[in-house]
Amino acid sequence: MSIELQQLNDWISCNPLLKPIMNLESVVWLNPKLQKLADMTDLPVNLADMEKAEQLWQRFAPFLAAQFQDTAKVNGIVESPLREVARMKEQLNKQFEGEIEGRLYLKCDNELPIAGSIKARGGVYEVLHHAEKLAEKAGIISSQQSYEQFSSQKFKQFFSQYSIGVGSTGNLGLSIGIISAKLGFQVSVYMSSDAKAWKKELLREKGATVVEFKGGFSEAISAGRSETLAKPGAYFVDDEKSKHLFLGYSVAAFRLKQQLTDQNIQVDAKHPLFVYLPCGVGGAPGGIAFGLKQVLGDAVHCFFVEPTHSPAVLIGLMTGEKEKVCVQDFGINNVTEGDGLAVGRPSSFASSISEKTVSGMYTIEDQELFFLLALLANSEEIFVEPSATAGLLGPLKVQASDYAQANKIPMNTATHIVWATGGALVPKEEMDAFYQRGNKNLGV
Ligand SMILES: *Cc1c(COP(=O)(O)O)cnc(C)c1O
Repeated sequence: MSIELQQLNDWISCNPLLKPIMNLESVVWLNPKLQKLADMTDLPVNLADMEKAEQLWQRFAPFLAAQFQDTAKVNGIVESPLREVARMKEQLNKQFEGEIEGRLYLKCDNELPIAGSIKARGGVYEVLHHAEKLAEKAGIISSQQSYEQFSSQKFKQFFSQYSIGVGSTGNLGLSIGIISAKLGFQVSVYMSSDAKAWKKELLREKGATVVEFKGGFSEAISAGRSETLAKPGAYFVDDEKSKHLFLGYSVAAFRLKQQLTDQNIQVDAKHPLFVYLPCGVGGAPGGIAFGLKQVLGDAVHCFFVEPTHSPAVLIGLMTGEKEKVCVQDFGINNVTEGDGLAVGRPSSFASSISEKTVSGMYTIEDQELFFLLALLANSEEIFVEPSATAGLLGPLKVQASDYAQANKIPMNTATHIVWATGGALVPKEEMDAFYQRGNKNLGV
């Protein structure tokens, strides 16, 4: 153990919740450092950066529509639907003997094109951003020209001189591998030992090089980082500190705002919006929470969820130590079946921002992920991967805390959005196994 016992005891005495966390119990934590939007003046990114990111997506839309069939019908815009899940709400009330106030929606990133997970936002964005920079520097594209040219043989030839690397537990690797290979880059994905075989196979099929790595996520990142940066002209997508991933995720807020308007869902002090986001390194939930605060203000309340065995961001924010501590320092093993959530150390970039934007966090047991997966499938016929279900307990967890009371937030007019973060690419046999395991827990 790399930290002193004295230090550990100090943290525990300042944060008594660390005790149950270290005992792997599920907990709810409210963030005492949450800020009002008006006070968030010293963030390293802002609304103008988000707008620029949105414009980049728009420039690349003709390329994406040409290259990915599933984006063609939506003109190359990578976005997912927002669906009300009233039957699931009923089931949650029944199974957990609660009464969720307000309406329950699912943000279906499990259906996102290209990568089938939330990583289609951050990962695809960062690679497009890098590709544009290279092409501009070489003088082969300007923002006045159609980006459909990125589909051409000439561009593929150009990008084939460059390599991209990424360390991943699976889903980020899929998104970076798929988009990079499509553009013509040489791409290497450094996979941690818990990465699924089907993800490795799919990546190889798409033309990426998969480097299998014995350690966990942090080790895969370190190895990937040093091997990639040793190659001339190579670019490493760094999940532990990337601003571009973060901005790619943040754009979801503009899109969600439009969807809320389209569905006549009001968001203001009298109509609060609660958003529940599964959390790994904290980049995806952090970017989305940041974006939502910028676009919808203080009426948005974001909660992150981590597995009881991987509470990296929770411990980082609670102690204020962020990326300086990892779950192993606290005797927690970082073993979970929630793909994308098996992360022991938070992103430094994202946690410095989430520290001010996140209302709170809770932890969930793996067993419950499967239970919720089956409950969602049975009530709504929506199949997501286990990690993507983590937000479904959010409304009841928050209601059981004193968050609403302490902040005088009306709950009967609330809208709850659970962010379903992945699932579309999971092979049928794997999904069947998840589903059956969940049904067993349900006693079905
Ligand atoms: C990556 C991922 C997350 C969390 O994103 P982070 O940026 O790692 O916090 C959540 N769910 C799924 C399915 C993921 O792949």
